[in-house]
Amino acid sequence: MSFINGAVLVLSGPSGAGKSSLIKKIEDEIGAYYFSISTTTRPMRKGETHGVEYYFVDKEEFKKDIEDDMFLEYALVHGNYYGTSLKPVKKALEEGKLVLFDIDVQGNNAITNRLGDITTSVFISPPTLSELKKRLYARATDSDEIINTRLQMAELEIQRVSEYDFLIINDTLDVAAKQLLKIAHTARLKKPLDQINDFVYTWKDLED
Ligand code: 5GP
Repeated sequence: MSFINGAVLVLSGPSGAGKSSLIKKIEDEIGAYYFSISTTTRPMRKGETHGVEYYFVDKEEFKKDIEDDMFLEYALVHGNYYGTSLKPVKKALEEGKLVLFDIDVQGNNAITNRLGDITTSVFISPPTLSELKKRLYARATDSDEIINTRLQMAELEIQRVSEYDFLIINDTLDVAAKQLLKIAHTARLKKPLDQINDFVYTWKDLED
């Protein structure tokens, strides 16, 4: 795929790591961006709105979208399907925006394979597993069973941090937000491979 000036910033990390709070903190300072709203089959949580956090659909609709090739990537996470729609991402990249993804490690892998030359990836983690547990219980949006599944998932995900360009340990929100802002600005400077090749070609040409 070839996109003029857009870039991708993938954010992963356990639910409760503070990804949404961090995005909120930096959103006014990162310039034109598009936050990719995923489609999911997981039930809507209290306080969530269709089309804001996610597009909530049933399994049949999700499967139809897979068949229709609507997703840039999709994955089964905690027993529910989550997918990134291709169309709005393509449009945002063509408009030169920074596209933010909140996706899991499987999604990062898929995006890096497809859009690696313009992708920067960040894993956001609470300082410890026990701190994560504390935050999930304090949030009180999930049942004990779901919290346990999330903690187990977090233990698996943390094993794959080395697949990311950056690790942000979200101990103090302000410090973590400053780090993420710097990374977001730098992510924009990534040049797509075709632009690099054009540059090299022209550069050589000028030398002749
Ligand atoms: P939650 O249910 O807490 O909103 O999200 C659960 C997990 O699904 C998180 O790790 C989140 O990053 C991941 N996720 C959300 N949307 C997508 C998506 O479109 N693709 C993939 N691969 N993972 C997603």
